[in-house]
Amino acid sequence: MSSLRERYLAEIGIPVWRRRGPGEPEPVPSSGEALSDVTSTTRAVGSSTDSTRWEELANAVRGCTLCDLHRTRTQTVFGVGRRDADLLVIGEAPGADEDRQGEPFVGRAGQLLNAMLRAIGLARNEVYIANILKCRPPNNRDPAPSEAAACTPYLTRQIDLIRPRVMLAVGRIAAQWLLQSDAPIGRLRGRAFEYGESGVPLIVTYHPAYLLRSPLAKATAWTDLCMVKDLLMKNER
Ligand code: URA
Repeated sequence: MSSLRERYLAEIGIPVWRRRGPGEPEPVPSSGEALSDVTSTTRAVGSSTDSTRWEELANAVRGCTLCDLHRTRTQTVFGVGRRDADLLVIGEAPGADEDRQGEPFVGRAGQLLNAMLRAIGLARNEVYIANILKCRPPNNRDPAPSEAAACTPYLTRQIDLIRPRVMLAVGRIAAQWLLQSDAPIGRLRGRAFEYGESGVPLIVTYHPAYLLRSPLAKATAWTDLCMVKDLLMKNER
């Protein structure tokens, strides 16, 4: 088993047992630090015009009343991370924790997402994380297609501004919406799609909330994350 795979399994809470070689010392526990091999590329941070565009977009989202979710939200959840990130992670919609804190993936699923990213050498603040919906659906129900349609222009704008090299859709809802497909997630994961006109590679994997309930699927998710890592290394800026 490669040490990176061991690192992933350790990060996401699966203990790895390995026979030690003769005279090999006891392993030192992992520090949980991010690996740096896929993050070595950096881009100049955007121009002031870009910051104006970001500001305008953030304001538009903050004041959005395009669908009924604005009536029940505590606040909008715009997105978080580097505006010049190589990797854009896209989830479904804010949950209760996110609605309270105004940031995507801050609950238990978010902790697991952070660990998954760390396992491929990416700290949370090196990527950009957003959702299809910027407002929480009541009782965490699935987004209605009309809500996703109303909200998508905001995400499209974020994608245009970030210009990520790779996108990762986490979970069935995000994957099916982005790919406009009704195929089950098991058929969408495990390969690279080209997203929209830009053709940005899009990988699909299981939602971390699902992985918390079905830890056996973590091994499958690892293969998706390896694809992300390979694409990031291949398409270095
Ligand atoms: N699940 C999501 O899809 N997005 C979040 O921000 C939180 C949980």
